Amino acid sequence: MHIHSTCSDGSFTPREIVELARAKALKAIAIADHDTVEGVAEAVAVGEERGIEVVPAVELSIKNEPEKDFVELHLLGYFIDHQDEELNDILDRIVQARIEQKIRQIKVLQDDGIDVSVEEVFSLVRRVPGRPHIAEVVMRRNPGRFASKEELFAEYLTVGGKAYSKRSFSLTLAEAIQVIVKAGGVPVLAHPGAYDKVKDIETMIRRAQEIGLQGLEIAYTYNKNRPHYGMAPTEMQALMARLEALADKLGLVKTGGSDFHGEGKDIELGEMGMNCVEFQELKAKSSFPATIDRS
Ligand code: AMP
Ligand code: ZN
Ligand code: FE
Ligand code: FE
Repeated sequence: MHIHSTCSDGSFTPREIVELARAKALKAIAIADHDTVEGVAEAVAVGEERGIEVVPAVELSIKNEPEKDFVELHLLGYFIDHQDEELNDILDRIVQARIEQKIRQIKVLQDDGIDVSVEEVFSLVRRVPGRPHIAEVVMRRNPGRFASKEELFAEYLTVGGKAYSKRSFSLTLAEAIQVIVKAGGVPVLAHPGAYDKVKDIETMIRRAQEIGLQGLEIAYTYNKNRPHYGMAPTEMQALMARLEALADKLGLVKTGGSDFHGEGKDIELGEMGMNCVEFQELKAKSSFPATIDRS
């Protein structure tokens, strides 16, 4: 229910993801690429052939508002109308700003004597460029310069790094929630246990709920992602249990997803997800007519 394809920084095409989901006997999946719905139509079409329900979704990167404790948040939108014009116009603007930002970042790396070209980075990009695309080329072209991608991120790409650069356009959480709701979708906070720069998670979530947040991602591959990489299973269970209790207390819908990106991360498709009851509860919150008709 939280999958990235080649349309953002995943390594499998939407078609390949649906084929893989079929091989794993999954009933439903959601393509939730960073800031694009480009892969949804292909996945829905293949899903119809293969008998797998493909939920149109997106994962929006949100503008920081430190005074509200909204820092480096990701918002999932589920059961959206991926053809909604306003949604697509806004996503186009976000992607354009990302392209400009990545070019600036590549130039800083070049000025520092690192071998990396705009052309080669963008040859890896189908729709949305991300820092992992830059990292892939830098690691390939400059063997020995960085011990690991982590080191490259720490020195250059992470917030505060030498090649870090802000985007000229991004949505605030309130705007992003509104865009998702207007497109018929359900706004859900992605991986709430992974925000190490947020000071008070519960207060932040309450604030987000006041402006329309409807759900929390509970089941998530925390142990395979930053900042909890390698987290012990018992600790991870405890984290998810705390978030589940919070969702229940606040009356937020609960989702789950693997954040599958394909090769390069040791996450399996379907490693985390949700059961049929939770799935129907989520679907019932959508106001996209096509979704309601099908349910
Ligand atoms: P972007 O979409 O360009 O902001 O890049 C975000 C992606 O970069 C995330 O989804 C991660 O996959 C990756 N990323 C961010 N920070 C790090 C880090 N410190 N180490 C490795 N990968 C990272
Ligand atoms: Zn990603
Ligand atoms: Fe995310
Ligand atoms: Fe993700």
